[in-house]
Amino acid sequence: MLCYDEHSTILFDAHKKGEHSFFSLARHRERDHCVGICMAGTVCLTFDFDALSLWINRRQTSPASLSRGEFGAVAVPRILHLLNMYRIQSTWFIPGHTIETYRSHCEQVVEAGHEIGLHGYLHENVG
Ligand SMILES: [Zn+2]
Repeated sequence: MLCYDEHSTILFDAHKKGEHSFFSLARHRERDHCVGICMAGTVCLTFDFDALSLWINRRQTSPASLSRGEFGAVAVPRILHLLNMYRIQSTWFIPGHTIETYRSHCEQVVEAGHEIGLHGYLHENVG
C-alpha cells in the first residue's frame, strides 16, 4: 500500500538527497490504494504570514477574527521546523505590520534563509 504519507516521505527523501526522481506507483494486487505517477521536481512554496494585518485591513477586529491572525504566529516556528527538517527554502510574504508586531518570528524566517516578499504594510489591495 502506498498512500499520501508514504508518497510524501519518498518525495521528501529524494529532495533531501538532492535527487529529482520520477517513478510510477502501481496498484498493489492485494491492496486497493493509490495509483499514479509522482515526480520530485521543483515546487515553489510560499507562505503568507499576515497575522493581524489582514483582519485589521478588512476592519474585522472582533476577538474571533484577530485570534485567527494571532494563530499565524503559533504556526511560524512549526513551519520553520518542518522546512528545516527537509532543507526546503521558501518565500514568505509578510506585511510591515506583522514585521513590527512579530519581529522575532520574522527574524527567524530571515535567519533560516528564506526569501521575504513584499506584502504591503497592512495587506493593502494593490490591484
Ligand atoms: Zn497575505
